[in-house]
Amino acid sequence: MSVDMLTIPAKCVSESRISELDYNNIEFGKIFSDHMLVVDYKDGEWQQPQIMPYGNMSLSPATSAIHYGQSIFEGMKAYKDANGDILMFRPLDNFKRLNISAERMCMPEIPEDIFMQGLEQLLRLDAAWVPPTDGCALYIRPFMFATDDFIGVRPSSNYRFTVFTCPVGAYYGMPLKVAVEPHYVRSAEGGAGYAKAAGNYGAALLPARKMQERGYHQLIWTDAKEHKYIEESGTMNLMFVIDGKLVTPPASTTILKGITRDSVLTLARDMGYTVEERKIAIDELVEAYKAGKLQEAFGTGTAATIAQIATIHYDGLDMELPAIEDREISNRVAVALDKIKTGKVEDIHNWVYRISL
Ligand code: PMP
Repeated sequence: MSVDMLTIPAKCVSESRISELDYNNIEFGKIFSDHMLVVDYKDGEWQQPQIMPYGNMSLSPATSAIHYGQSIFEGMKAYKDANGDILMFRPLDNFKRLNISAERMCMPEIPEDIFMQGLEQLLRLDAAWVPPTDGCALYIRPFMFATDDFIGVRPSSNYRFTVFTCPVGAYYGMPLKVAVEPHYVRSAEGGAGYAKAAGNYGAALLPARKMQERGYHQLIWTDAKEHKYIEESGTMNLMFVIDGKLVTPPASTTILKGITRDSVLTLARDMGYTVEERKIAIDELVEAYKAGKLQEAFGTGTAATIAQIATIHYDGLDMELPAIEDREISNRVAVALDKIKTGKVEDIHNWVYRISL
């Protein structure tokens, strides 16, 4: 089915809730904009998309996603530039990744026109919800889940694709203390670690909570076979500066291939830094730390953007890393990335999708 943007019917709220929003004090993920996009898949095709007031959905207790986990999502952000235009950051990359997740979870692909035109129309309608404040953004949550009311393990025939949005402030305020996870694993080769599938997050909650009880904000996942190599952390990819080089684990089937990760690597290369995508053994980090060569460590992700890591714990050793202000590469890249996202510099990589109001 081909969708004409002008034909996405919108049932609008009678009164916006925007006056409840305090731009200077936004709690992450708790306030939702006025509208959402909803599209159902049935009889083998996507039906007419609709925009409607953000609100509860009615579901059968037998809804297949709840029982068997066919549920995938994305996370992306939009900003406002100085003229008040809305700038979405790399939405086509989120679109592609959603369909990679869909394929892995045996779900139908979303057509590009539904995703992009649906987003554009939703953001035009809720433009007032895109915060103009520095450091804030409109977080966009596209997701798809299986809607058959049927008990039995098989792929659903019916699905729902929905997008809602929420204005957000900064994700992590302070530099993080993280610890290498010695026992639990997030994913293994042949698994679904590269998909943004809901179950990956559910299974990570217990290990993360145990690490928090030990005084760390997050854990660092290691490989499933040997617990020897660095994978990723929470909802972030991981990067280190070792002896002046930016190094990060390679994109593989066991980690989520972050869009922020790709943006950071691209900008660091543009700036002339040496970038290496390769396996990083924990022992290498410890050796570099002991030799005074572990200069920076940080996580990258849409929610956090660049989250500095102050401490890495491994096997009884707390590695205390250099002060944040001394971290040349991550600080330079963070500033450059922010300027691109908010339209303050030329977008040479064509990452920004502009919606002029
Ligand atoms: N890894 C995981 C497990 C994540 O959930 C995320 C957040 N989407 C990332 C890495 C970072 O990806 P991105 O930069 O695309 O947000």
